[in-house]
Amino acid sequence: LFLTFEGIDGSGKSTQCRLLAEALREQGREVILTREPGGSTGAEEIRRLVLEGDPDRWSAETELLLFTAARRDHLERTIEPALAAGKVVICDRFADSTRMYQGLSRGDLRASVDKLHKLMIAREPDLTLLIDMDPEIGLSRAKGRQTAEERFEDFGLELQQKMRAGFLDLAQEFASRFRVIDGTQSLEAVAADVLSQAQAALT
Ligand code: C5P
Repeated sequence: LFLTFEGIDGSGKSTQCRLLAEALREQGREVILTREPGGSTGAEEIRRLVLEGDPDRWSAETELLLFTAARRDHLERTIEPALAAGKVVICDRFADSTRMYQGLSRGDLRASVDKLHKLMIAREPDLTLLIDMDPEIGLSRAKGRQTAEERFEDFGLELQQKMRAGFLDLAQEFASRFRVIDGTQSLEAVAADVLSQAQAALT
């Protein structure tokens, strides 16, 4: 099972990924927990190129190519081998993040995103859990984390609102694999929703 988490910055995705991985491992399942950008040696190197340093280093188009290159490496080296071995793959962000961030936030590149995806990735998750919440809550959480080296987290509220709406649109576009989870609930309640969705997909 290939399961991805999506959502705006500060939505609590990463914590929920970890909790789900722990819960599934306790049931005796083999789980690979991975993330994007990154998740393989080469893709982690590209992550540094894209997320660190001068924010204007890359054009929107070049950034899209770098994210796609990272995803291709991640898919070849980490995701596909794990799925082939029958493991559950939990990934913190995947192609839906590119549809949003490279496709929507830095310009109108969605058509290019879709073409590159079809050409070089051509793989959708079996299940995508969208941790949805009011961007004001997400933003204050993301700021509190202070990972300042990651320029991408420096989004304003307006952009976060656009991203939230965009993710909800994606959930409709890919309704068969998306489940929307209310991220404003307590951490435990979100984790319980996440686990029951994963469980349903596993049976
Ligand atoms: O999920 P995580 O916080 O690790 O993501 C790091 C940053 O990279 C986020 O702030 C996110 O906005 C950005 N990002 C992006 N495009 C992607 C994936 C992540 O701009 N495709």
